[in-house]
Amino acid sequence: MITKSLAVLGSTGSIGTQALEVSAHLGIKIDAISANSNIILLEEQVRKFKPALCHVSDVNKGKELEIKLADTPTKVIYGADRLTEAVELSNADTLLTSVVGSVGLLPTIAGIDKGMKIALANKETLVTAGALVTERAKEKNVPIIPVDSEHSAIFQALQGNKAEQVKNIILTASGGPFFGKTRKELENVTVKDALKHPNWSMGAKITIDSATLMNKGLEVIEARWLFNTKNIKVVVHRESVVHSMVEYADNSVIAQMGVPSMMLPIQYALTYPERLDGCAKALDFEKYSSLTFYKPDTDTFGLLKLGFLCMNEGESSTIAYNSANEVAVKYFLEEKIRFTDIEKVVKTVVENHRKCSIKSIDDCVAADMESRKKAEEMIGSML
Ligand code: MG
Repeated sequence: MITKSLAVLGSTGSIGTQALEVSAHLGIKIDAISANSNIILLEEQVRKFKPALCHVSDVNKGKELEIKLADTPTKVIYGADRLTEAVELSNADTLLTSVVGSVGLLPTIAGIDKGMKIALANKETLVTAGALVTERAKEKNVPIIPVDSEHSAIFQALQGNKAEQVKNIILTASGGPFFGKTRKELENVTVKDALKHPNWSMGAKITIDSATLMNKGLEVIEARWLFNTKNIKVVVHRESVVHSMVEYADNSVIAQMGVPSMMLPIQYALTYPERLDGCAKALDFEKYSSLTFYKPDTDTFGLLKLGFLCMNEGESSTIAYNSANEVAVKYFLEEKIRFTDIEKVVKTVVENHRKCSIKSIDDCVAADMESRKKAEEMIGSML
């Protein structure tokens, strides 16, 4: 089903702004937009795309925006606790979840319950509640189409083939800005160093996750739920041209390639199963005289190794893994802890979390809060 109208959660972020551009190109109506606090950009977006609904998480900013937009028919609602309501109020046929962190979970569930097609750019949703979310989507007959570039690549490489004939899913990783560095060298890297990604321009949180390889750990867990397999490998590919691959029983490997641009996976999620004239640039092979592949250094970047361990342990571990990281990255970006402390905090919280079975969304939310609290306490004692 090609998307006709879209609700965008995280509309002022990197994925959100590109999704609005892709939508304008494809003539998709924007029905609802939502962002944390960037009301300057939100106002521009409302005036340009004329959504029926605009949600702002920050209450004061929301009140300000409501006054600014009084001359438009757009309804403005605000408050972090009303993000799910924004989805419930929207009449869009597709929900793009491109918020950062596990706050994406409840609104995504609301979208599934409404029968909206889910274009998922929020990996934390599946890391936190993969089993529950995928089961719920199946029950409601709702497709979850990945927007994450690696998962979009795998989704594309699976088309026309049988899932039971997949031998391995091979996720590519750019290796981030600290590829080739030793553990010792990582001790004194700064926020500025960590925010310099070689190929992708993204939000701050995911850029730090790419530097620690935590992002790849989260993507391994995301892939486990999207494609229902634990046969997942990671290979470092510095050029970010091969976006990921699927290896089949006969050892044939199907890769999806393209320029490193999120326009492509965003567009495919909106037009699947069609391929329409796109916003992304064509791949110029002459610019890439060689494509390189390496084994990831999981001794230096321990969070990737830990991601596989958590995937095998189960959901309470993957929740602890994600929540502790969200907290630690926040403190690193505020320059209160060191880069290498992120791994220390996540490891300790995962090792000491209360292992339990996750049977409901309430269980997920409770486990998430518990691990956040543990991470906050640990960092508090380090400051
Ligand atoms: Mg990715």
